[in-house]
Amino acid sequence: VDGDGTIRWEPNLSLGDLRLGDILRARYGLPTIVANDSWAAAIASYLFRGDGRPSNLIAINVGRGVGAGLVLNGELFVGDRRGAGEIGHIVIDPNGAACPCGRYGCLETVASAPSILRAAVSAGLEVNDLSELGAMALAGDAVALDIVRSAGTALGGAIAHVLGVLDVREIVVHGSVTALGGPWLKAIREEASIRSLGPLARETRLIDGGLGEDLTLLGAAAMLLTRELGLTVHR
Ligand SMILES: [Zn+2]
Repeated sequence: VDGDGTIRWEPNLSLGDLRLGDILRARYGLPTIVANDSWAAAIASYLFRGDGRPSNLIAINVGRGVGAGLVLNGELFVGDRRGAGEIGHIVIDPNGAACPCGRYGCLETVASAPSILRAAVSAGLEVNDLSELGAMALAGDAVALDIVRSAGTALGGAIAHVLGVLDVREIVVHGSVTALGGPWLKAIREEASIRSLGPLARETRLIDGGLGEDLTLLGAAAMLLTRELGLTVHR
């Protein structure tokens, strides 16, 4: 998303160069911000933390896609081309499945909600959603556990890279895939730990942010209030 509210590229919805901000402003005549949902959720995770708010925090949205929001020194970090946190399209397996972005084996092809459900169905599991899959894994179903662990392991590997670059102590995971529960979180923690330098791994907190719909809405509201009313939160 550009600073003027134009969506440059959204591979999962096949959107490109859509001037959404202009369209919404013209339609409603109200102050409008178009924001990446992962960024909004990161801002909410940061702002609405109670005691002991850290200076840095990364919130990873794991749902239909996988995207991160980076709060560094109390500010949202967007990157030089507003692409910071786009970890979902890092290729983790060049021989992997086709991704809507046009390449193969992106993180999203194994770690997103649709890809996990596809893996479950093609393994012959009769599950309707991720919470059923998580419950089967928790109950010890080997096939379900394998799928859940693969998804968590892929994400944990990506988190290790992020930790190596940024050394951020708090990582919040949120979104529909958190419905997989304990076995998924455990796989993320283990892989991130195995692939990171000792102190980085030991002192990192991985927080379950839940389904995260509220986080996105709260963050979007905070972005708008900050811009329109100049509200800021001081540490
Ligand atoms: Zn991709």
